[in-house]
Amino acid sequence: MSTATKSLLHARYVAALKSYLKKRNEVALLAAYEVGKAFQAQQVPPEVLLEAHMLALDELPNLAKSQVMEAFSVLLEAMMAYGIAHGDAYRLLEHKNHQMERSSAALAAAREVTAALTASNQELHHLDQMRNQFIGIISHELRTPLNFITGFSSLVADETLGPLNVTQRGAMNKVLEGSDRLESIIEELLDANKLQAGKLDVRVATVDYAALIASLVAASQPGLDYKRLTLVPPAGPTPDVMADADRLHQVLRNLLSNAIKFTPEGGKIQLYVELTPAGRVLTRVEDSGIGISPEEVERVFRAFHQVDSTNTRQQGGTGLGLSIARSLVEAMGGTMGVMSELNVGSSFWFELPAALES
Ligand code: ADP
Repeated sequence: MSTATKSLLHARYVAALKSYLKKRNEVALLAAYEVGKAFQAQQVPPEVLLEAHMLALDELPNLAKSQVMEAFSVLLEAMMAYGIAHGDAYRLLEHKNHQMERSSAALAAAREVTAALTASNQELHHLDQMRNQFIGIISHELRTPLNFITGFSSLVADETLGPLNVTQRGAMNKVLEGSDRLESIIEELLDANKLQAGKLDVRVATVDYAALIASLVAASQPGLDYKRLTLVPPAGPTPDVMADADRLHQVLRNLLSNAIKFTPEGGKIQLYVELTPAGRVLTRVEDSGIGISPEEVERVFRAFHQVDSTNTRQQGGTGLGLSIARSLVEAMGGTMGVMSELNVGSSFWFELPAALES
């Protein structure tokens, strides 16, 4: 404490003492109380208060013994104020300490949680990268032997390497069917990987949509015949569309093969293509198949998602087709969706920009 503060406090104490000895009233005592508080606020040790009192007495000569006794009331008042103020300050400090302890504990906990989250995020990211790398490597590695299988089995199946009997031809066709299936699974995995990495690009140009549909319908015929399904092609003229021809082919092939897969024998599949007033080409593939429940309807577009029913599982597949199809349509500037009713049928649709001249 500076000497200036000390002498100021001392002067205040002397004034309070004088005033009390003169008036002996509450107001004077209150002044003593305030001085006591001021001593505490300046963090003056309590013994200095006693010192101030003794000095004040020295400064007031000729005090009667009774006045010296009375002066004690002032010292007591000031000391009481000092004590009360000290208690308050202590409690405040304790409270602040407590608060600080609590908030530093909360801060430590938050830091721990953040650290754990960051670690698990990194772990997830790492796992994601590993999964993608794994899918990429596996798909490429599978492709090479598969090329040998399809190449040589085609040579055997079309009898370039020598004549086959009926049983052998049937067996070779099964081998080819299997390798076709494997090839499309590998393609799907590679596409899904490229999509995840944002590396799947589309080259948009005018596509002769009528021709594309005709070739797809023709290619679907064996599957349709096998299940005695009727496919009704679009009525009326088919507008040209702005798209990546190969990717559009892939999208429509996926919807058609799903319709075939999920429609029971004897059912009907209808293809609609129309030009909307907004200059978009809307395509719908409607089937009279098993349908999808309202809870599942949006989930079918998620990667690897299959509706969990024995029927779906029996049909095989990766659950990637629709998620890839939707991403492709979006990459070509369109949208894709579905309307479906369980046990009635589904209507998968997508729309793309129409070619300018249509
Ligand atoms: P995949 O057919 O390879 O399983 P998709 O992504 O093409 O994968 O389809 C995901 C799931 O959506 C299917 O497994 C099936 O449960 C459901 N689904 C797709 N198309 C239809 C359809 N036309 N009718 C009923 N369910 C369908």
